[in-house]
Order: sequence, then structure tokens, then C-alpha cells
Amino acid sequence: MNKRAYNFNAGPAALPLEVLERAQAEFVDFRESGMSIMEMSHRGAIYESVHKEAQERLLALLGNPDGYKVLFLQGGASTQFAMIPMNFLGQGQQANYVMTGSWADKAYKEAKLIGETHIAASSEADNYMSLPKLTDISLSDNPAYLHITSNETIGGTQFKQFPDTGSVPLICDMSSDILSRPFDMKQFAMVYAGAQKNLGPSGVTVVIAKEDMITSSPKHLPTMLRYSTHTSNDSLYNTPPSFGVYMINEVLKWIEERGGLEGIRDLNREKAALLYDMIDGSEGFYRGCVDAGNRSDMNVTFRLESEELEKAFIKASEQEGFVGLKGHRSVGGLRASIYNAVPLESCKALVDFMGHFKRTHG
Ligand code: PMP
Repeated sequence: MNKRAYNFNAGPAALPLEVLERAQAEFVDFRESGMSIMEMSHRGAIYESVHKEAQERLLALLGNPDGYKVLFLQGGASTQFAMIPMNFLGQGQQANYVMTGSWADKAYKEAKLIGETHIAASSEADNYMSLPKLTDISLSDNPAYLHITSNETIGGTQFKQFPDTGSVPLICDMSSDILSRPFDMKQFAMVYAGAQKNLGPSGVTVVIAKEDMITSSPKHLPTMLRYSTHTSNDSLYNTPPSFGVYMINEVLKWIEERGGLEGIRDLNREKAALLYDMIDGSEGFYRGCVDAGNRSDMNVTFRLESEELEKAFIKASEQEGFVGLKGHRSVGGLRASIYNAVPLESCKALVDFMGHFKRTHG
């Protein structure tokens, strides 16, 4: 096999090599069916068992919280931005948002199209380079829910703790850090994530929600945009993204084999510490964009003294086999996305490269 790239893409992103190899081995003849998972009916026993296994594994990794259900949807996390207010925002209520960056902003703007909104807290004044304090969150008079973004993929911030909203449903976009660490599902009415960072290939959106939240939906909504349609049909109302669900099931097995969410968290902490230690110890050559308490273990954002130097860094890194280190086009700078499947070796190689680049350009 050719050498694998040091892949720091923000999403779609690195998948575990073990999972890719397993998928390759069973690609053309899945479970002795004489066909691939993509070629069989989603109503058949084989696909249905994969679908159910993936749902059960996901809940098991979260400690089997009572009364929650897993949906596999399409349309990306971006469609959830709209479905959430469409399904949960009633007359006379306000959709509450914590504004932490580009993704929170996109979610909020969709809610504005649907009904009344309220900004419960914001770090916009700080250019989203920090997070609002949980104690600064202030809900509206009649909140339908509070929406937060656990990890801002572009800015590189990550909530280490989540607000206690009492009886107000807490909904979280976990697209860029789901299953990267343990969390208490029971704190949330719903979490959701596009699969393409920590769970599998793009094309599947995972929703984990309290079953009573997603059992009845407003009747005027189009069928596919009602959570209740997918809940009552166990995400098999229409053709599901079957290959993606199969891949998620394999990624979940891979997480189990690494000690579940605790094991994965320890690995992720080690990877992030390597990079942040390099940045913090570089005497200002590398500058972290986010303060230590709020920075993400998934998306490490940093800058160099000038844009020219950043361009030189990216060019040199590409020549050495590093992929995806350019920051998002909206903010510039540099970003290393180190999701679950990015190996420790890739992070060590990046730290070596950063040290070398500093010695030759410092
Ligand atoms: N939320 C976050 C935090 C993201 O990082 C992204 C994608 N990068 C999205 C939402 C949008 O996801 P999708 O492309 O699946 O619609």
C-alpha cells in the first residue's frame, strides 16, 4: 500500500485505517450475500441488522440512556438547522441560541426564518475566539429550546461543560466533536451531527433525541421534514444512506475496541496536548487563536506572524505529505483537525514538522 497522508482535513476527514481495510475486505461480498451492502434492499434482513446494530452500539457507547432514539437522516447537519425550529418552535415561543461562531450563526439564521428567536449569550464581540461563560446564558421568557454548538470547527473553540437548562430542552450541534469524549446524554433533549468528521462518510446525519420530543411533529410540515416520520419508521421511511450507516457501525466498533469514549478521550487529549504544547512553547512563533480554557481538542487553530509565512508553512507542509492545514477561508490562518481517527503518529509528525519550520524560518 502507498503511504497514507498525514490527513488533517476538517471534514470529510480521516477515517480509521482499520475500518477502511475492513470495508475493503467485505466490499464486494457482504456477509456472504454475493453483493455489497450498497446493492441490497434496505428492507432486507442483512441491511436491517446493520442499521439496528449501529443504533444499538451508539446508545451503548452513551451508556444506554433511557428513552432516547437514534435516527439516521440525510441533508447534513445543515438540514437539522431548519428541522429543529420547524419541529420544536411553537407559537409564542422563542428559539434560543448561544452564538459561538460560524456554525451557531448558521443554525440561528435558519431559526429566524421559521419564528421568534433569542440570543441567549454570544462571544461575537470577541470575534468568536472565546466562548461565553455558561453563567452568562440568559434564556427568553418562553423558550422552546436552547441550541448550542459543542465545538466550533472553524474558530477552534469547544465547550468543556454544558449548561443546565432545567426543563428547557437543550439541543446540541455536535458535528465536530461527537463521540470524542464521554458526555451525559441525559443533559440533552437532542444532539445531532453530520457523520463526516467523527462517525463515518458524509451523507448521513445522526440524531439522538428523547423519544417523546420526536414522536409527534406539526402536521403542516412536509413528510420528510417531520421527525415523527423518521421516528415511527425507525429511519426507514425512505431509502436510508445504507453504505454510510454500515461505515458508522464499523467506526463504532473501532471506538469500542479503543476503550469506548473514555479511551478515545484520553487519546484525543494526548494528541491535542502535543500540538498545543508545541504552539505554547514556540516563544510566539506559533500563536494559538483561542485561550487555553476554551480551545478545542478537535480543531487546533493557530497563526504565524504574517500571511506570507502562513502560506510558506502550508506549501512546505504539503511537500512533506501533510494535508488540510489551511484555516477555513472565512478566517485564514492554520488549522489542524485532529478528529478521533487521526493517528497519534500524524500529530507527532506535525509537531516535528512545526519544530523544523520554526528553526528554518524563525
Ligand atoms: N455544524 C458544524 C459544527 C460543522 O462543522 C458543520 C460542517 N463543517 C456543519 C454543522 C454543517 O454540516 P453539513 O455539511 O453536514 O451540513
